[in-house]
Amino acid sequence: MIQLFLPLNFLGFVYREIRRALTDLENMLGLLKRKPDITDAPDATTLQLANGSIRFQQVDFAYQSGRPILQQLSFTVPPGSKVAIVGASGAGKSTIARLLYRFYRISGGSICIDDQDISTVTLDSLRRAIAIVPQDTVLFNSSIRDNIRYGRPNASEQEVEQAIDLAHLRGFINSLPHGDATQVGERGLKVSGGEKQRIAIARAILKKSPILVFDEATSALDSTSEQAILQAMREVARNHTSVVIAHRLSTITDADNIIVLKQGRLAEQGSHNELLAANGEYARMWQLQQKQQS
Ligand code: ADP
Ligand code: MG
Repeated sequence: MIQLFLPLNFLGFVYREIRRALTDLENMLGLLKRKPDITDAPDATTLQLANGSIRFQQVDFAYQSGRPILQQLSFTVPPGSKVAIVGASGAGKSTIARLLYRFYRISGGSICIDDQDISTVTLDSLRRAIAIVPQDTVLFNSSIRDNIRYGRPNASEQEVEQAIDLAHLRGFINSLPHGDATQVGERGLKVSGGEKQRIAIARAILKKSPILVFDEATSALDSTSEQAILQAMREVARNHTSVVIAHRLSTITDADNIIVLKQGRLAEQGSHNELLAANGEYARMWQLQQKQQS
């Protein structure tokens, strides 16, 4: 009986493993099917970085034809400045970050970094120029240190230490029994949303890209963690061109320029004070959020 049971059990295991491998393969094939969008042109050049300016020029984009997401979107991010992108959920904010990283091909207009159309440069050189702190950070099943190092695997020990400090992770790491060797990820220590975001910020610091993109990096946090992250973001953003996608307007009042997106179109732009004075979409959103807070 036992003899029969064990092999059957084992076969079940093999079967599940094969199923999983096939699913992985399907996912991989799915990615390959999208290949034309994400590969380099035969004559692709290396992005020549100057100081990290960004220009969207009449960009049109749709995930599926017939349902436009971004329409005739134009804006610039001057080198070294901080530009915020705000707008209702679904307005297309995260899409802008995905297009900068060239996850998809646009259907009209152009996106330039330092005056080079990003569709003409190698993906590798493009993605080296931009560090994104995403909405949902994925941690690998490995140590905290490895997870940070992922930002730039050949960074020196000293650079990793510096990133830990700048991202305000030192206190958290010191509180752990195994310090930065502590295992995290699905099978390791449970890490809070705020800690995860700070690990993502440390990765971005380590990457040393001239352009930083924060996608609602603080939206899921309580206000204490939010303050810690905002402070980390401000320190990191110094000397960088930064794009901050935000839901809570109180976190971006210091931006040099605020771009207000409405259903994939530019509704208005300006500084916090200019937009309040204009008494349009932004002013309405601001008043609504002020009311919700009190
Ligand atoms: P935001 O970040 O402003 O909340 P997104 O840029 O994520 O908005 O999404 C803009 C619109 O595009 C939404 O209507 C969303 O449903 C749609 N969308 C986002 N990702 C995809 C996708 N992979 N495929 C199809 N539609 C998508
Ligand atoms: Mg989003």
